[in-house]
Amino acid sequence: MINLILFGPPGSGKGTQSIRIAKKFGLNHLSTGDIFREEIEKESVIGKKVKKYIEEGQLVPDELVIDVLFYQMHQYEKPLGFIFDGFPRTVTQAEILRKRLAKEKLSITTFISLEVEDYNLIQRIVKRGKYSGRVDDNQVTILERLKVYKENTLPLKDFYKDHYKFTAIDGAKKIEEVFEDISAILQILVNEERVNLFK
Ligand code: AMP
Repeated sequence: MINLILFGPPGSGKGTQSIRIAKKFGLNHLSTGDIFREEIEKESVIGKKVKKYIEEGQLVPDELVIDVLFYQMHQYEKPLGFIFDGFPRTVTQAEILRKRLAKEKLSITTFISLEVEDYNLIQRIVKRGKYSGRVDDNQVTILERLKVYKENTLPLKDFYKDHYKFTAIDGAKKIEEVFEDISAILQILVNEERVNLFK
């Protein structure tokens, strides 16, 4: 099983790349942001709880995030693996994920960080806001999201550098080029996994 964390600031292309990578490698794409947006759309109990945090560019409390993520993970029977997109975003979430996977004798296979400069992120998000319809894709909220990212999420890089295989990728390149870079890393892992399976 391949479990990939696709890491990076808002606007770094995690969602776009996750969709493509999931398709190519037969993995299940788990985006906590997407799950929350669907819940808000449905006006569900969870949707109502998370709406304000998302509108303000703040993090949804860990317990809520964990609940929806694990619920979603268990919807898949015999998954080949997962791509975690936008999760974990705090060290607490990362610890809980590690313990949860360990219970099932699983772990994170690799952690890929998409690196993009702030000015580029802001430009991308403002542009995306014109068609995404996302309430948080605007110039004011993006600044808050970047601040929250730096304070709460960036420290995760060290957490993962110490524990797992870590690769930083230039996320400012063209979508196709970033896709090829991520694919190359995953292909190596898939090959290793096959070897292990035949041992
Ligand atoms: P995203 O689509 O990943 O940019 O997420 C949009 C928003 O959903 C974030 O700005 C947070 O408010 C919330 N969110 C998504 N994932 C998480 C998470 N793992 N922890 C806390 N909040 C999250």
